[in-house]
Amino acid sequence: MTESDIHYQVIVVGAGPAGLAMAYLLDQHKINYLVVDQSNQIGGLYATLHPELELLSPARFNSLPGVKFSSDNARVSVASYHDYLKFYAQKFPLNSRFDTHINNIKYENSRHILQTTCGEVLRCKSLVIATGMTCFPKPLPWNGSFEKVDLHTGVQWKGIDYYKNKRVWVVGSGTSACELAALLVGHAELTLLVNKPVKPVPLYFAGINIHYWVRPLELISKKLYPGICKHDYLEPVIDTGIKDAMRRKLLTIVDIADTEFVSGKLFKGEGDEVLCVDPEVIINCTGFHFDTSIVGETLDYEANRMIKLHKNCSDKDKRLYFLGFPCSGGIDSKFLRGIKRDAYRIIKQIV
Ligand SMILES: Cc1cc2nc3c(=O)[nH]c(=O)nc-3n(C[C@H](O)[C@H](O)[C@H](O)COP(=O)(O)OP(=O)(O)OC[C@H]3O[C@@H](n4cnc5c(N)ncnc54)[C@H](O)[C@@H]3O)c2cc1C
Repeated sequence: MTESDIHYQVIVVGAGPAGLAMAYLLDQHKINYLVVDQSNQIGGLYATLHPELELLSPARFNSLPGVKFSSDNARVSVASYHDYLKFYAQKFPLNSRFDTHINNIKYENSRHILQTTCGEVLRCKSLVIATGMTCFPKPLPWNGSFEKVDLHTGVQWKGIDYYKNKRVWVVGSGTSACELAALLVGHAELTLLVNKPVKPVPLYFAGINIHYWVRPLELISKKLYPGICKHDYLEPVIDTGIKDAMRRKLLTIVDIADTEFVSGKLFKGEGDEVLCVDPEVIINCTGFHFDTSIVGETLDYEANRMIKLHKNCSDKDKRLYFLGFPCSGGIDSKFLRGIKRDAYRIIKQIV
């Protein structure tokens, strides 16, 4: 193991939108920092999503601190948002290191000690975890063999042409599953496999994008249910066409409760009833684990391994912060709009 002598005031793990926002603010405050990312480029999720997909949030909510993305209310493509992130990183060059995977973090002598997969050790006083939510997809609900099936997650969407005229199963009942299913309607032989009823909320309410309503809703719901955002958060299924498709019966919806997948067939219960057969493609949209294992030794856990967070901070003494995770600072913390607010909150605590 090589021991790096370089000590940073702050290390940010992750160079997605959250890491970029944090780096900008650290730079503005002349704080000596390093951003590390396991991939070879900036942009996180937006460097990997298919460029034809669109963000659900209105353009004006997608700005990071320092450079306005747009003042428009329209949705934008992943491609144009990724261009914005690249422009951002050019305008404010990062002190960064790519192809650097952090696999363990310890806390000793008032320093966070980060171990990279190549065996290097980095040290810092304050640590910001901005690793996003998509590195740990949840597994499919069945143990069957999927050898002959092209199985991938929703974030690995391959573009509409790829799925044309194929038997496609989309597994999940959240926004991503419903959004991809809505895109596939009329193109593929489509089955949506759900573990709970799909209850879409409109993308626009009173003519205004749903993302505007999150904060007023948060105030109301916190009054009605103070536990919200401590252990739970609202995750409505945003309707980008699924409601209409369901009403017009343009797709098959199957409840996966109590099912088994064997030899290309989905059986109900003890194997009597066959629900659907022979998928060519399965898109797993069952969600992601909020994995905190890299900082496992450092964290202060509540029951059920929930992290105690206050204003994105896990432990004031250890100066350990989380940015870009659901409810780390508020209901919209995992969205770009929340990331911007939370990055300002963290910098106030760091300086
Ligand atoms: C399909 C989908 C659509 C979405 N659409 C929207 C939307 O329209 N609007 C919106 O506001 N939000 C949306 N979101 C939420 C989205 O999570 C945020 O917009 C944003 O991507 C979060 O940025 P981030 O920097 O926190 O994480 P990411 O963009 O995921 O970046 C995390 C980075 O951390 C790196 N990393 C992870 N682990 C390690 C490690 N151990 N060592 C080193 N590097 C590591 C990864 O390589 C990655 O580059 C969407 C999410 C998904 C999944």
